[in-house]
Amino acid sequence: MTGADGAARATIGPQSLLARGLVGQERVRAFLASAVEQRRVGAAYLFVGPRGSGKLDAAYALAQAVLCPHGGCGTCDDCVRVAHRTHPDVHLLQPMGAGSYVIEQIRDLIDDIALAPVRAARKVYLIDDADLLVDASANALLKSLEEPPDTVTFVLLGTSRETILPTIASRCQIVPFRPVSPDAALATLEAELTAPREICRRAVGCCASATQARGFVQSAERQEARRLALRCLEVLPDADALDVLHAAAACVDAAKAPYEALKAEQDSAYDEGAAWMSASALKQLTLRLKRELTARQRSGMMEVFGAQRSLLRDALCLAAATGDEPYNDDFAACAHTYADRLGLDLLPRALDATDQACGRVRRGVSPQLALETMLFDIKEMLTCQP
Ligand SMILES: [Zn+2]
Repeated sequence: MTGADGAARATIGPQSLLARGLVGQERVRAFLASAVEQRRVGAAYLFVGPRGSGKLDAAYALAQAVLCPHGGCGTCDDCVRVAHRTHPDVHLLQPMGAGSYVIEQIRDLIDDIALAPVRAARKVYLIDDADLLVDASANALLKSLEEPPDTVTFVLLGTSRETILPTIASRCQIVPFRPVSPDAALATLEAELTAPREICRRAVGCCASATQARGFVQSAERQEARRLALRCLEVLPDADALDVLHAAAACVDAAKAPYEALKAEQDSAYDEGAAWMSASALKQLTLRLKRELTARQRSGMMEVFGAQRSLLRDALCLAAATGDEPYNDDFAACAHTYADRLGLDLLPRALDATDQACGRVRRGVSPQLALETMLFDIKEMLTCQP
């Protein structure tokens, strides 16, 4: 698509991710839309901005526009698959190593680049946490970034330009994202959906992006996972160790449940491929499906920790008497308990514990273990308090 001079302008449909998403990122939207419309999408982008600024949503929006034969109609089969994050030509990479990418992941990616797209005319690689591309993994990627096949678009996502290796950043078009305020996210969600305000508030409290929040409002299963996440904190002050383990297990199971449908979809994608793909292509497909499922389940756990974080934040606002409206109206008594028991001294430490749990899951620790460790850490803080 790069520099396809003279080609007809693409039309971005009103149902496309690019038209509907990118809350609070109007400049980014205008920039990407203009590249798509003029059929001048580059080979490598680096989206930089804080967590929650919607970089991954924007990356999928760009992928949709790139893979759709009409430039992002929002309604064709390719567009729908990208929106459901099940398009076989969109590859999401997330670090599998302890705080970094492992070299095998990048080698697999380079092998995959050489293969033809499965459905669309192009392929898009989304590389999350590009800050964690260092040393060998970064070096291995450089050549592909510099001279990608003309059927490939890379979108790297990072926190800031400074945290990305200069050798990587210099090979990409840099697109800066601004932080999005929770109020702006809530206003957009309420305007778009007819869901009750309290459900929208809960969504903004536990989700890291607008698309995630939209999906949360529409999913009873994800709302149930949130309820069980908060239930862990609710039982914690009076629970014994076994109760804590039971609550954590129920919560982790509930967080996995929404992705069962994806697993079924993947199984049928595999069966479809098994009929005609070579053994090595099939192996690649299996690895990719496994990674995608892990990534999605991981994001379910991030929502669990996000919910727990938002409840502790409600407690912190109560303890500090800020008068802020809580995110979790249905767990108000629990927020009061934590405000009283942990107070301004210990609540920031409890919030840190949720961040650490997220970090552990991102580094490949089992969700169950990360959640248990976090709960026992907070339980100790509850016990220490005189
Ligand atoms: Zn389309």
